[in-house]
Amino acid sequence: MSYAKAIKATSVIPSGFKEMAKTTCSECPAEYLIVHQLQGADAVVAARQAIQFKKDLAGEHVDPKHEHLEVYEPLDDE
Ligand SMILES: [Zn+2]
Repeated sequence: MSYAKAIKATSVIPSGFKEMAKTTCSECPAEYLIVHQLQGADAVVAARQAIQFKKDLAGEHVDPKHEHLEVYEPLDDE
């Protein structure tokens, strides 16, 4: 179990975290990194989170005035 968040791909990876996956919004060019806290980092969980997060990003486009956030946290770990 690891604390996970998604950050814009242009961001600096926070200290104590590592890049686990990269995902791009299907509706715009926004790129995000899924990062996990070093302790408990889990590639399988990250792959699942990347798929879910991509859907969540696309879902924000339902509102034409939306703006993606810089950081989404915490990501579910299930
Ligand atoms: Zn988007």
